[in-house]
Amino acid sequence: MTACLDTLELDYKVQGDEIHMPCPMHEARTGKKDAHPSFSINFDEGYFNCFSCGYRGAFWVLVRDVLDLDASEAKNWVRKRGGAERVRKYLEKKKQRAEQVDTTKQINEASLALYTTPPLSACAERFFLPEDAETCGVLWDPARDMWIIPVRDPDTGMLWGWQEKNERYFRNRPPGMAKSKTLFGLHTYDDDVAVLVESPLDVVRLWTCGIRGGLASYGAGVSDAQMSLIRDHFDTVIVALDNDDAGAKACQRLKDEWTGRGLTLKFLDYSVAPHAKDPGDMNADQIKAAVRGAYSSILARF
Ligand SMILES: [Zn+2]
Repeated sequence: MTACLDTLELDYKVQGDEIHMPCPMHEARTGKKDAHPSFSINFDEGYFNCFSCGYRGAFWVLVRDVLDLDASEAKNWVRKRGGAERVRKYLEKKKQRAEQVDTTKQINEASLALYTTPPLSACAERFFLPEDAETCGVLWDPARDMWIIPVRDPDTGMLWGWQEKNERYFRNRPPGMAKSKTLFGLHTYDDDVAVLVESPLDVVRLWTCGIRGGLASYGAGVSDAQMSLIRDHFDTVIVALDNDDAGAKACQRLKDEWTGRGLTLKFLDYSVAPHAKDPGDMNADQIKAAVRGAYSSILARF
């Protein structure tokens, strides 16, 4: 789920339990634009109010008016996004995360200027297409023959740094960036169901197989922050961590800790390719079958 208000294309500020913005219906109601942010939404109450023109109501009414829907369509729209309470939680966390970002790091998009679209030869070894790498945001360092995997702020997409890797070498730049507070793929996914893998390159592999909900945790240690991010964007996640002891332990922990918390967990069906160590190790048909056959029970995985 993207923030409902982003989807509504409203320009808002978060202040405590409320969000504030210029009244979106002011002009239609009064003939004049709202020059001040007279409009607020209180998510605890689930109501909005413009103290200037008196426009007020339940959150779905705002959705109805801004998106020009009828009442049942608008209520559906809100329900599909988990209700107004979920919108409030999303905004709250978004604000907290924005406050946590260390803005002193001297990293910006220009830092990536030396890197290119990965070459066909390197992509072919991984069974994905250069254009899919590009779509997913994976780059290449032609001087050192290395994958460059950007790490971005989950909300703003701002560059935090990147990972450099090839068969012999791996490094985080800058060291210590908070990659456990974000997910690879969060800015490019195009599906209703998330598929959680460890390696960003497996997100590209999934993409080439037509599976476009891939997200990578940058390792087997999936953090609570990462799971919360998945819940903010999706109703269902297929956990596709590596087919090894560490992956199995991580799956069990996620199942124990995240059952009943508003996110449906399923587990990749490795029985279609029992010897594959991760989804990147399967052929395209196996990947599709393993995703299609994902189980709600963790036991079926082993
Ligand atoms: Zn108004």
